[in-house]
Amino acid sequence: MSYGDRRLHHSRVLQFVQAPPPKSLRAEPLVDFPFPDVLPPQLQPKLEEFVAATGGGESDLITRVASWKLGGWPTWHLTAPDDFACTACGTSLTLLFTAASDDLTTRVIVGRFGDLRIFTCPADAAHPFHVDVH
Ligand SMILES: [Zn+2]
Repeated sequence: MSYGDRRLHHSRVLQFVQAPPPKSLRAEPLVDFPFPDVLPPQLQPKLEEFVAATGGGESDLITRVASWKLGGWPTWHLTAPDDFACTACGTSLTLLFTAASDDLTTRVIVGRFGDLRIFTCPADAAHPFHVDVH
């Protein structure tokens, strides 16, 4: 993908994202956890207990943060965890941005209530990024 393709892809992404209401966004620090399956086996039960204790049995509030976030861990509530490789250098991409549909503040809905995720290459910011809806 050339740089020109990257800009074209970016404009396609914006077609699916509606801007949130003015003054509805604010930054808050948070502790983000990976999906339990990507943790070492000895840590998985502790995180699963934490998820069960905080979600009220209905949802995962720990590894699927209801909001927009910069960085952190990607959610894997629809599929098993996956690794996206940079198409330029093969490095594993890292999560840059998530726009979740269940954020009541922004009222933005992505696709069929999915999460829009943008992954970038940590080796070189000029390398192509990956966008998906999970
Ligand atoms: Zn790369």
